[in-house]
Amino acid sequence: MASIVIVGAGYGGVMAGLQFEKALQPFTLVNKHSYHQFITWLHEAAGGRHQIDDYKVELSEIFRQRLSTIIKDEVVSIDRTQRKVIGKHDEYPYDYAIIGLGSAPEFFGIPGLSQYSMQLRSLETARQIRTHIEQQVKAYRDDRDQSRLRIVVGGAGLTGIEFVGELIDWLPGLCNRLGIPNHLFEVQNVEAAPAILPALSENLQHKAQSVLESKGVRIRTNTKITQVMQDAVYLESGEIVEAKTIVWTGGVRANPLLQDAGFTCDGRGRAKVNEYLQSVDDEHIFIIGDNASFISAGRPLPPTAQLATQMGVTVAQNVLAHSNQTTMKPFEPKILGTLASLGRDVGVGLVGGVQTSGAPAGLAKELTKVKYLWQLGGMRMVSRNRKPLVREY
Ligand SMILES: Cc1cc2nc3c(=O)[nH]c(=O)nc-3n(C[C@H](O)[C@H](O)[C@H](O)COP(=O)(O)OP(=O)(O)OC[C@H]3O[C@@H](n4cnc5c(N)ncnc54)[C@H](O)[C@@H]3O)c2cc1C
Repeated sequence: MASIVIVGAGYGGVMAGLQFEKALQPFTLVNKHSYHQFITWLHEAAGGRHQIDDYKVELSEIFRQRLSTIIKDEVVSIDRTQRKVIGKHDEYPYDYAIIGLGSAPEFFGIPGLSQYSMQLRSLETARQIRTHIEQQVKAYRDDRDQSRLRIVVGGAGLTGIEFVGELIDWLPGLCNRLGIPNHLFEVQNVEAAPAILPALSENLQHKAQSVLESKGVRIRTNTKITQVMQDAVYLESGEIVEAKTIVWTGGVRANPLLQDAGFTCDGRGRAKVNEYLQSVDDEHIFIIGDNASFISAGRPLPPTAQLATQMGVTVAQNVLAHSNQTTMKPFEPKILGTLASLGRDVGVGLVGGVQTSGAPAGLAKELTKVKYLWQLGGMRMVSRNRKPLVREY
C-alpha cells in the first residue's frame, strides 16, 4: 500500500483525509497544531463574537477511525529527491504527498506594513488582535488617547469587510461595559481599489458599502496605503492616520515553503498543477487549496475554502487512482456562490446565481457553516460546534 502524507490540516487537507478514511486507506497528516481551525470564521473570533477556542476542532475528533496517524509538527521543507517531508521534530517519507499549507500575507512591498500591522490568518492572530483591541479600549480610560479607539483595517476583500462588520457590532458593547461613550471609537476600512468586495457585482458592492456605512464604518476606497509606522498609517494623499490598531487583510500569497521546495510557481507563490491537481514538476506530489495554481477559464482559481474543500475530495481520489494505475479525474471547480457577512445579522452575496442581501444573506452565511460542519462529521460535528452557530448580542 502506498504511503501517503498530507501536509496541512486546513480545508483541503482535512477533506482529503476524510476521503481516505472512507476508502479505508491509511495516511499520515502533519499539521502545525493538533487542531483544525475554522479560518473562514476568524473575523468572528477576532471580533468578539464567541470564545476564540470555539473556532477550532481537535483533529482526533475529526479522524476517529484510527486509520490515520496525526502528527503535530511544523514542516520546514519538502525534500522531493528523497521523497520526504521534513518537520522540526521528524521526517515523514512518502510515496505520495498532498500539500495544503495555506497562505501567508502579501504585503506588496509597502514599507513597514509587515512590522507594524497585525494579520488575521490563524487562531493565534485572531486572539492577538482581539486581546490588543480590548487592551487599547481599557488603556483609553487612563490616558484618553483617541488613537487607541481608532482601528484601521487595510483591504476590502472578504476578510477585511467581514472583519469591519464584526467590529462595528462588537465595539459598542465593549465600550459600554468599560464606561466609554461608544460614539468615540472609529473603524476605518482602507482600500486602494475603487470598490469593496471585488468578487461581487457592482450592485451588491454598493449595498454592502451602504450597510456598513450606516452602521458607522468609514469605508475609504481609492485610498492607497504608502507606508505604515508604529501606530500610524500613511496614505498617498499625504494624510497620516494615527491608530493603535492596524490590521492588514489586503492580500495573500501561498506558503513560501512551495517556492523553497523548487516547485514551478505563479506570481503569488502558488505551485502550478495539472488538471488532476498534480504538481507539474512531480507526479508524486498533489497540491491543493491556496497552494495550487489551477488554471480555469484562463486564470488561476481564487484562494477560497470552498475550492480547497472540493480539491481535497478530488485529490484523494486521484492519489488512489495514480497508485492503483487507474484513470485520474480532472478537477472540476464548482463556484457555488460568495457570501460576505456584514456583522452579526446581515450579509450580502450571490448564491446559485441569485443575489441576496440583508437578513436572508446573513442566514445563508450561517447555513454555510452548518453545511461545512456536516461535511466534517455529520450531526456529531454540527452539535459539537453549535456555539459558533448561535448569534449572540
Ligand atoms: C477571515 C477570513 C475569512 C474568509 N472567509 C472565506 C469565506 O467566507 N469563504 C471562502 O471560501 N473562503 C474564505 N476565506 C479563505 C479561506 O479561509 C482559505 O482559502 C482556506 O482556508 C484555504 O484552505 P487550505 O486548505 O488551502 O489552507 P488552510 O485552511 O489555510 O490550512 C492550512 C493548514 O496548514 C497548516 N500549516 C501552515 N504552515 C504549516 C507548517 N509549516 N507546518 C505544518 N502545518 C502548517 C495550518 O496550521 C493549517 O492547518 C477566508 C479567509 C479568512 C482569513
